[in-house]
Amino acid sequence: MKIIIIGGVAAGAKAAAKSKRELPDAEVHIYTKDNFVSYSSCGMPYYIAGDFQDWQKLIVRSVEEFEKSGIHIHTRQQVMKILSADKKIAVKDLEEEDWYFVEYDRLVIATGAEAFMPDFVNKNFKNLFKLRTLDDGIAIKSALKDVKHITIIGGGYIAVELIEAFIKNKKHVTLVEKSPFILSMFDEDISSLIQEYVLENSNGLLKIINSDTVTELIGDEYIKDVITSKGYGFDTDMVIISAGVKPVVDLAIEAGITIGPTGAIKVNSRMQTNIPDIYACGDCAEK
Ligand SMILES: Cc1cc2nc3c(=O)[nH]c(=O)nc-3n(C[C@H](O)[C@H](O)[C@H](O)COP(=O)(O)OP(=O)(O)OC[C@H]3O[C@@H](n4cnc5c(N)ncnc54)[C@H](O)[C@@H]3O)c2cc1C
Repeated sequence: MKIIIIGGVAAGAKAAAKSKRELPDAEVHIYTKDNFVSYSSCGMPYYIAGDFQDWQKLIVRSVEEFEKSGIHIHTRQQVMKILSADKKIAVKDLEEEDWYFVEYDRLVIATGAEAFMPDFVNKNFKNLFKLRTLDDGIAIKSALKDVKHITIIGGGYIAVELIEAFIKNKKHVTLVEKSPFILSMFDEDISSLIQEYVLENSNGLLKIINSDTVTELIGDEYIKDVITSKGYGFDTDMVIISAGVKPVVDLAIEAGITIGPTGAIKVNSRMQTNIPDIYACGDCAEK
């Protein structure tokens, strides 16, 4: 039995480990376009805060440990297509730029989610960041020492974790949130208290602009100014987009896999998709 898993962070790594435990003779492979597998995304804000210095502490299980337990890891390999009729995937080697095919008996899609990028954003700005992958976390941490003021677009969980990390590092932070309060997934009586608490504990370094949205980031290579829909403008040294996530489902859609009402891959209680021998789990799946 050859089990192929696309994506190797929380869901993909877990699917691989469980497959190997249940079927020790199975051949298990993880393909990921990233540099890393099996790491703690949840720990990244604490690394950025400086609570520990070595990002390797975020790695839950190394490539060598996976290989030792018989799970083969293929990093920097992007799956480009699922050919379900032939039970094959087409993979692009991001180092060599060439393509090849891999056959499977069972396929697990664990492609996760990606940070939502508003249309107005030019992704090439050198001081524009998102926090999703370990590479993102390492990049933010290494850029942090040169900045005095940081803008955060969006006020969800990750934004609040980053406020804490940045304030701890004595950075000035301006957060722009389109709702009347941050953490708007809570009722206003709760989110207003959270916002008050966060502001009270920010040593005067935090400004929150509510009920407004960023419409323009101005600069050449680096963003220098931020403009909001109400015409408010301010200087900044770094911008973090933290405006939500969306499930990564392009491969699945192209393969004819059914998508559910939230926009993620629809699975049944056995994590099966509508196509035989293709499963999905993690942030890309819904039930
Ligand atoms: C800063 C931060 C803090 C968080 N804190 C918490 C928390 O406290 N509690 C909590 O429950 N959750 C938290 N989360 C969310 C949690 O990390 C995610 O729910 C979890 O990572 C989802 O795992 P996943 O494996 O489904 O997807 P992902 O972690 O998104 O991994 C998917 C992987 O698939 C790869 N991939 C995608 N497409 C392809 C392709 N075509 N070919 C090859 N590889 C591909 C991606 O590059 C990625 O490596 C946090 C997330 C972040 C970013």
